[in-house]
Amino acid sequence: MAAKDDKKLPAPKREKPLYSKDEATVIFVLGGPGAGKGTQCAKLVEDYGFKHLSAGDLLREEQDRPGSEFGDLIKSYIADGKIVPMEVTVQLLENAMRASIDSGNNKFLIDGFPRKMDQAVAFEETVVPSSFTLFFDCPEDVMEKRLLNRGKTSGRADDNIESIKKRFRTFIETSMPVVDHFEAEGRVVKIKATRPPEEVYKDVQASFASRGIRANK
Ligand code: UDP
Ligand code: MG
Repeated sequence: MAAKDDKKLPAPKREKPLYSKDEATVIFVLGGPGAGKGTQCAKLVEDYGFKHLSAGDLLREEQDRPGSEFGDLIKSYIADGKIVPMEVTVQLLENAMRASIDSGNNKFLIDGFPRKMDQAVAFEETVVPSSFTLFFDCPEDVMEKRLLNRGKTSGRADDNIESIKKRFRTFIETSMPVVDHFEAEGRVVKIKATRPPEEVYKDVQASFASRGIRANK
């Protein structure tokens, strides 16, 4: 049996997922760039005690980690709005999950992942099957305004109009098929994300309540 110890990248092949659904609860949080995933996740962390893992944040951390062999690769993929090869992202998520489980939290919101079919399949087959996907549905014109606004202060290399256009294209061509796939399996909770954060959050809470997921407070 595979030991649950630290391993070097890339992810090893496994016969079955590292964790069962009892050992780790995973909710995927998807939506276009600027749909509000991070904002809603922060509220859920506060009220429900989830551990928030943003794939983009983990990739940016790895990019900046001194000595990382993936720094340059990640940087160019992010600037181009392309999806970093899944071995890197799946392994970063797995490492972060292991650290959180070791310190006592096994309930995860995985934000901005999976964004491509191969990642979705690999993660569910080798790490843990997800409970469901929370999908924030938002039109491009609204997301574009939010991202350009965020770009004034985010310091993110991809919050500029050229990268934003590329990210929208990747979202439609590569990431929406993942949402459609999960939706065909009846595993998507869709939330309209055009309204202000507090309003959207009310719908999120209602959908969690209807699935029997209760807040801590
Ligand atoms: N990214 C990736 N694989 C993932 C998630 C993100 O390659 O599974 C890269 C991709 O280039 C993406 C960028 O990281 O455009 C930023 O992702 P993030 O989730 O931070 O953007 P958001 O959707 O929150 O605006
Ligand atoms: Mg984000």
